[in-house]
Amino acid sequence: MITDGQKQEFYQALLDKDANSEGVFFVGVKTTGVFCRPTCPARKPKFENCEFYKTAQEALLASFMPCMRCRPLSHPNQVSDLVRRLVDAVEADPSKRWKTCDFEELSVDSSTARRQFKKRFGMTFVEYARARRMGLAMKQIRAGDAVIDAQLNTGYESSSGFRDAFSKIMGAPPTKFEQHRTILKASWIDTKLGPMIAIADEAGLYLLEFVDRRGLEREVERLRLKTKAAIIPGVTDPIKSITLELESYFEGKIKEFNTPLHLLGSPFQKLVWDELMRIPYGQTRSYMAQAEAIGKAKAYRAVANANGANQLAIVIPCHRIINSNGDLGGYGGGITRKQWLIEHEKQGL
Ligand SMILES: [Zn+2]
Repeated sequence: MITDGQKQEFYQALLDKDANSEGVFFVGVKTTGVFCRPTCPARKPKFENCEFYKTAQEALLASFMPCMRCRPLSHPNQVSDLVRRLVDAVEADPSKRWKTCDFEELSVDSSTARRQFKKRFGMTFVEYARARRMGLAMKQIRAGDAVIDAQLNTGYESSSGFRDAFSKIMGAPPTKFEQHRTILKASWIDTKLGPMIAIADEAGLYLLEFVDRRGLEREVERLRLKTKAAIIPGVTDPIKSITLELESYFEGKIKEFNTPLHLLGSPFQKLVWDELMRIPYGQTRSYMAQAEAIGKAKAYRAVANANGANQLAIVIPCHRIINSNGDLGGYGGGITRKQWLIEHEKQGL
């Protein structure tokens, strides 16, 4: 989370083209949709048009594309041809989902690409392409329903790159001929631990996940198939409610959530999720103890899988499950977040 004070500092560094700030932050420019390194030679934007990020990945997820002048994804002095070729290939079709065979088409060895990218940007090429693709798809969600309302009026037939990127992840919106379809709304929620996406209808929340969570696209797809619904950007009462509750949770003001939920899972998964919600705030439990609590001591592996299938991060507190030896164990949203959540809850007791 970047504080207001830091924003002012970063903005000053941006005006000064401060070379020492290279790698410290990136700036997304709302008016142009690009993101830059601090030393970019282009004319500097106004403060109110800047959004600051500590990593390039966050800027990509927020739907900014890399600036052509300062090339924020390339190391200032050493841009390998391979890396440049890959970035250009993504920009030629940012909504594409990359597979190993695509590298062959570019005559690039996928493991070399992975290594070089990771070294330069702290993420692999596939993570880069994914962040860019998710960012594009999330652009409409970040913008709220204004964009989609305009498209509803034209029956969704007007095509655009954004709409295509959105459809690839959220499924095609209904055409005017099938507007009887169930509609779920998706919203973007900024939190201390990074942006989250919430998906809900008017009755309850179906999904709450960190936008950079691996496998999010598959989760959304599964949700869409199970509910046979169309997902479009927008806000519902449960989304308003969870937005407020998350804010209070992160401020340490509430310890449990009251937003109504839809749990879509097998009876066994639901059993595990119910039990997760019984683990008190600020406490942790092992997979083993969790399996014992539902009376299936031998099924701890299945319990671990059910935990992993949880689509309501934080609200169903799978972050409270750790290994028997005290290690943190896995977490869909990343270990750093899990650790933060556990610490945060301990402090709030
Ligand atoms: Zn730039």
